[in-house]
Amino acid sequence: MTGEVARVVIGGDVFQVNDAVLVKAPGANERYVGRIVSVAVENGAVKARLCWYYRPQETRGGRKRFHGVKELFSSDHYDWVSVNTIDAKCEVWSLREYQELEAVTEFDFYARFLYRSSRGEFRPEKVPVFCKCAEPYNPDRFMVECDQCNDWFHPECVNETKSSASQLDVWRCPDCRLSKITGEV
Ligand SMILES: [Zn+2]
Ligand SMILES: [Zn+2]
Repeated sequence: MTGEVARVVIGGDVFQVNDAVLVKAPGANERYVGRIVSVAVENGAVKARLCWYYRPQETRGGRKRFHGVKELFSSDHYDWVSVNTIDAKCEVWSLREYQELEAVTEFDFYARFLYRSSRGEFRPEKVPVFCKCAEPYNPDRFMVECDQCNDWFHPECVNETKSSASQLDVWRCPDCRLSKITGEV
């Protein structure tokens, strides 16, 4: 008998379509992450079709400095897996939602890019960049906002430290400090 089912119970947990899940990955350091797109019963075995999330190091180009430790990429890579390989539920947030979490657990991730695994392409191709290093935001790295130009900076990129930059009530980036001295607007 073959048929689509709406939900499946594994070890007391209810899993359903659209849930993000951690999948056992024997031999690998970290479990795989996928999103359930359908669940079906075939000859008594329950299977889930997953859309995989990639980790930065699994994509073309590899892990970059702006990739956070909890960063994942949505993908166009789907597979059917036995539901026995599903380990736990997790959450894959937008970057904005992730930034607003009060506490990040081992079950919290975020995704801001789609990775087309067959072509090795990323969408969107461009995201906003910040600081002298002109890199996309990495939520794991502390940044300070310039009170004049409102750009954000890594203290170490402007020869400062987190404590020196966060001590000041008003902080200006090096360019704004310079323009203040020379009177430029
Ligand atoms: Zn920087
Ligand atoms: Zn500035």
